[in-house]
Amino acid sequence: MRIDVFTIFPEYFSVLDISLVGKARERGLLEVHTHDLRDHAHDRHRTVDDTPYGGGAGMVMKAQPWSEALSSALPEGGLTPSGQRPLLLVPSPAGKVFDQATAQEWSEREHLLFACGRYEGIDERVIEWAADRAEVVPFSLGDYVLNGGEVASLAIIEAVGRLIPGMVGNPASLVEESHSDGLLEYPVYTKPASWEGLDVPPVLLSGDHGKVDRARRDWQLERTSTRRPDLIEKLDVAGLDKKDKAT
Ligand code: SAM
Repeated sequence: MRIDVFTIFPEYFSVLDISLVGKARERGLLEVHTHDLRDHAHDRHRTVDDTPYGGGAGMVMKAQPWSEALSSALPEGGLTPSGQRPLLLVPSPAGKVFDQATAQEWSEREHLLFACGRYEGIDERVIEWAADRAEVVPFSLGDYVLNGGEVASLAIIEAVGRLIPGMVGNPASLVEESHSDGLLEYPVYTKPASWEGLDVPPVLLSGDHGKVDRARRDWQLERTSTRRPDLIEKLDVAGLDKKDKAT
C-alpha cells in the first residue's frame, strides 16, 4: 500500500518511523510519503489560508496549494498500477464516523492520500476538484473537534495499516479483537494467576477449551451490553447461537 499525507505539520508523522508501521515500512509492506503543503504556496510567507467568504471567525485553507500538492502525488492516468482509483481521505468532524468495517475496506486499497485540514477547514471546491481524480471520502474520528487532521490521519493509518496482510505477526489476533464480530473483546489476563488478592477467573485455568470459549463469548456479550448497548442493537440475531440468546 502507498500512503501520501499532505499537511502543514509534516513532523507530526515522524511516529510512523517506529513500532509496527515503522517495521512494515522497512519490510516494504507500506510506503509512506509526507508532503508539506506549504511547498505549494508561492508567496514569501508560504501562505495557505485566507479569510472566509461570507464572513465569520477563523481562516480557510486556499484551494490552489491543495490542487497543486495533490496533483504531485496522484497517479498518472488516474489509476493505480493494479487499476484502482486512488482514495483521498479528508479528515473532518463533518464526515462519516470511521469504524472497523471501514478500516477493513480501506486496507484493501492500493493508494490512500490524506488531506489534513487546519483552521476552519479546506475550501470546499477542493473536494469537487478531487472527485474527478480520486474517490474522495470525508471521514470523522468521532463527534468532537480536533485542531487539525493530523491526529485523525495517524489513527486511520494505524487502524488500516495493521490489517494489511503480513503486518501483524499473528493474524488470529486480528480476528478475535473488539469490533471484528460486532462485539467488544472479552477481558484478558496473564501470569500470575493471583495478584494483589485478585484471581484470574478459574475457567481460564481449567484447560477445557469449550468452556473457555463459552465464558469468553458470555463476557463479550455482557461487556458490550453494559458499555455499548448501541452495538447490541445492531447485532444480527441470525448470527447468534442459542446460548447467546439466553445470555
Ligand atoms: N470548522 C470545522 C467544523 O466545525 O467542521 C472544524 C475545523 S477543525 C478546528 C480543523 C481540522 O481538524 C478539520 O479541517 C479537520 O481536518 C480536523 N478535525 C477536527 N475534528 C476532527 C474529527 N473529529 N475527525 C477528523 N478530523 C477532524
